[in-house]
Amino acid sequence: MVDRILELPEGTRAKIAAPIVRDQKGAFEDRFSDLVSEGYARVEVDGEAYDLTVETPELDENFDHTVDIVVDRVKVSADARSRITDSVETALTEADGVLKVIVPDPPADAAETLGGSTARSTGDIAGSGESEDHSDRDRLVVELSEDLACTHCGIDISEIETRSFSFNSPHGACPECEGLGETKEVSEDLVIRDPTKPLKNVFEPWSYNRTYYSRQLDNVAEHFGVSLETPFEEIDPEIRRQFLYGTDDVVHFEWTTKNGTREKTERFEGVIPNLERRHVETDSDRAREHIEEYMATTTCPACEGTRLKAESRAVLVDGTSITAVNRLSIGDALEHFEGMEADLSERDRTIAEEILKEIRARLGFMTEVGLEYLTLDREAATLSGGESQRIRLATQIGSGLVGVLYVLDEPSIGLHQRDNDRLLNTLAELRDLGNTLLVVEHDTETMRRADTIVDMGPGPGRRGGEIVAQGSPEDIVDSDRS
Ligand SMILES: [Zn+2]
Repeated sequence: MVDRILELPEGTRAKIAAPIVRDQKGAFEDRFSDLVSEGYARVEVDGEAYDLTVETPELDENFDHTVDIVVDRVKVSADARSRITDSVETALTEADGVLKVIVPDPPADAAETLGGSTARSTGDIAGSGESEDHSDRDRLVVELSEDLACTHCGIDISEIETRSFSFNSPHGACPECEGLGETKEVSEDLVIRDPTKPLKNVFEPWSYNRTYYSRQLDNVAEHFGVSLETPFEEIDPEIRRQFLYGTDDVVHFEWTTKNGTREKTERFEGVIPNLERRHVETDSDRAREHIEEYMATTTCPACEGTRLKAESRAVLVDGTSITAVNRLSIGDALEHFEGMEADLSERDRTIAEEILKEIRARLGFMTEVGLEYLTLDREAATLSGGESQRIRLATQIGSGLVGVLYVLDEPSIGLHQRDNDRLLNTLAELRDLGNTLLVVEHDTETMRRADTIVDMGPGPGRRGGEIVAQGSPEDIVDSDRS
């Protein structure tokens, strides 16, 4: 915080203030006299400055008031560091980890420099419309919190860590879908594929020959006085709903076991809640898979398919969230990160330097193997074989390993000529690092770039199997048999 304040242009005047938290409302008058004895003379009430040694502000109990203790009034300069540090610490102690920086005459970009949340630019203070003379419309008020908390809405988020941005970690995953980006729900349309079927057979997952469920249906049908042979669509919609989602009233159940007749009286759970409950509770993979046949997948409404929890999605770097970056193609992402340094403050640039270098290197490797069109949120399972192979190659260039034998099966497949050239440069790079590449390939361009070719033939498939020529590309060209 001190560094951010010191990043304001030299000579900027600023007040460091401690907001008095709202739940102390009602005790303001007492607090004011305490403040004077603690040595604080100045407060700001709803943006207006008061000297407590001269007057005590009168507060209307019926309104919310913003009351800030002005801990210090400083002029930004490198020499003022220790004084600003002291004042910041005092303010944080007074206000339980939050403080306000009030800049009466803010230089351009002051809000960005300070970060935090801009509490208000005075001039639109609630409930003090007539006191224009005290306020300066252009001043800037920024709230900074020691914890990652918003003093306005009381939202308090945990420490931001690397794992906060991984949907594979419970610290980052959307709690609703556990990081899958989609949720599965039992679908009425899948449970009832044919509503013209009689009641006893209409629920696809509940085949009537399974005694336990059929006895339940018998009992519920009896409860409503409907026949099991009635086509489902002809039953009263209100009763249909209760079959599907549970009865409003208790039902008398009676069924026979090998130990005799058993009975109980309780609400009928409903076919769909029953499936949903069993899907969660069952330990059997087979049972779970069976139920999933009746479930439809929908984009998770909580995270809109982004798989991350709201707090993680709210973190912005240079104005962009991780989910927005994930939607970019590799090529666009590379461009995004290339331009980024210029937009960062000196402090942020120092922090980000190494990370940006690493990000650009990795995106660069992906571009070199011709994958710049893939979006970062593309799922691995949807990649073609060639794409997966080239991603693994890109990872390998990055690893800097030496002495490795790579075996590649037609890496050029599906590539345009221009991308093929880049891929071949990548392969040559891997070789030059001190690795061996064995490439199975029909592509002429690849063959011309090889150090040694082993030509298998003479025909394809079963008519092959012999080495017809071996040597440098020139040797192959000169060979009579190849
Ligand atoms: Zn979700």
